Amino acid sequence: MTVHQAAHDRLAEVGSNIADDYMTLKLLAAGLARILWERQRVREGAEPTTGLLPQAWRTGVTRLWWRALEQGNNPPVSDMEVFAWCRLPLGCWPVRLDVSDSDVESLLIDGEELSAFADEAARLAARSDAEAELTENRTFAKLQATAELHGRTEEEVQQAYVALRLFLIESPVVSDLELNKLTGRFKEVDRHGYLYVRDFFDSAYQYRKTGGPASCWVCSDCGNPLHEGIEMCGTPGCTGVPVVKKLKVLEGYYVQHRGVRVCMHDPGLVEKRLFDALGHLPKGRARLHKWPGMDACDVAVEFPDPAAPGDPDRSEWWAGDAKDYTSATMLGRSFKWDQRMRARHRFLILPQHRFEQKHYVDDLKREMQGRSDGVRVISEGDFVSQARARALGSTSW
Ligand SMILES: [Zn+2]
Repeated sequence: MTVHQAAHDRLAEVGSNIADDYMTLKLLAAGLARILWERQRVREGAEPTTGLLPQAWRTGVTRLWWRALEQGNNPPVSDMEVFAWCRLPLGCWPVRLDVSDSDVESLLIDGEELSAFADEAARLAARSDAEAELTENRTFAKLQATAELHGRTEEEVQQAYVALRLFLIESPVVSDLELNKLTGRFKEVDRHGYLYVRDFFDSAYQYRKTGGPASCWVCSDCGNPLHEGIEMCGTPGCTGVPVVKKLKVLEGYYVQHRGVRVCMHDPGLVEKRLFDALGHLPKGRARLHKWPGMDACDVAVEFPDPAAPGDPDRSEWWAGDAKDYTSATMLGRSFKWDQRMRARHRFLILPQHRFEQKHYVDDLKREMQGRSDGVRVISEGDFVSQARARALGSTSW
């Protein structure tokens, strides 16, 4: 085999679109997710599954290696070197990456954990070997299954789905006594007598045994557990401060797994704010639908036709997806409107803290150009005020 042939084979292995640095970052992030998951398992006493680094990681490193050569730079000499880069802002990597202005400050590893940016990237790396291990994917599948087992009609299933998903957003920390509220309502069991809802719950939470009354530091606004001594909650967009939460417990309490917190609880905060605000629209003039069709979109508002208020087909529908992503570019590239959700007006709703972030909306709109399916980008505040105006009779579009 000639050198040229070897290079050619190696190139084929990593795909031809080497210049797509977001693809490289997704692969590295998926690999890191797997590496950190493995480390965590070993720390908890499990046998290591394999001594090899994940395929996604190796492909990502190979792509970086090519990118460096292409730029006339020295390629990374070891995995350790690339690990070290993962702690640097993307704009400071020795290999120049083509990333948007709003992403240059992002890191892949933050402290000892995957950054929020890397979390998103890992989730978007489809079919990577990290995907199946991501806790939030398992939890989401169990949430849907539990909902389906607790309704005889589509409507009942939908109600169960909304209740379970809201539980995750409202309860980052739960005592064992509070858990009874959930098990008291969702009573279906498998053939061994085990509650389905318990299976869902266990996939989303970690147990902390205290043996008696417990207290922990949590955020005053979003409720996330915080380390003692921290001054501000680090949850995106949250301005809460640490407070002590006293828990009435039988034997212990539960804390959400990090993946579930980052992917379901934190992005759910904007959904909950929208639900709360839109729930106060004048009755009879607007109807709120939470995650209609088990998540065909996040929020829909139905404005009934005064001539036929009971006929949803004659109503005007507004539907929105609320997305709290660190990276506007990755959001824009991955955003797809669910075609099940037919609505006259379609929105991509951004939490206020993203909408106001420098370059964010520009980067997002640029990525969405030409394939946005008529979806408008709007802030959460504007969405609510436009919906209110529409309910009160004025139409702005
Ligand atoms: Zn908070």
